Amino acid sequence: MTRGHASASATAANADRQASERRVDASPLRALPEVSHLAYIALGANLADPLAQVRAAATALASLPASRLLSVSSLYRTAPVGIRGQSDFINAVAALATGLGALQLLDALFAIERLFGRHREYLNAPRTLDLDLLLYDDALIDSPRLRVPHPRMHLRAFVIAPLLEIAPQASIPGRGQAAAWLPAVSMQRIARLPD
Ligand code: ADP
Ligand code: MG
Repeated sequence: MTRGHASASATAANADRQASERRVDASPLRALPEVSHLAYIALGANLADPLAQVRAAATALASLPASRLLSVSSLYRTAPVGIRGQSDFINAVAALATGLGALQLLDALFAIERLFGRHREYLNAPRTLDLDLLLYDDALIDSPRLRVPHPRMHLRAFVIAPLLEIAPQASIPGRGQAAAWLPAVSMQRIARLPD
């Protein structure tokens, strides 16, 4: 598999072109819930076949109750943050229309993490699967269990690049346009993987 490295901004620009091709087919049998929210979710893994884990996790998101998966970014290979010596991560971002409340959605994401064998050992530990709720409509949430927008999302190339691929106009409540954060993360190693 090719592993060319690119800057976050170049990666996002190249990927823009392909964003429209990556929409997940909407099943006619799965109507949108009556009350629909737009959530963006970050997927990440760096243990036990992370490519397969992230792909399977996207499929699991598509099966969440009262929800419909709208789009999934390309997969990205990225440098681990926080702890030296870890394997690279595979990351992606998904857009989900959902009738679930934000905390309900967080619990559903934790349930998927557990299904994939995630154990919370310590902060930034290697993980089979990490699912983070990035954005939930334009909500600002600051509760003990959940902070939205995700407090570090604007500082992470592995979030900003795939987010911009599927939502070039995305804005981060309290922080402005997501695209404006590209320069801040442009030194972080990230490579979009071929389809
Ligand atoms: P991280 O994703 O930051 O590497 P974890 O996945 O272990 O670390 O999450 C740590 C805690 O962060 C969880 O217990 C969760 O309740 C909390 N949390 C707060 N806001 C969010 C969010 N937006 N998405 C996911 N988890 C969140
Ligand atoms: Mg997490």
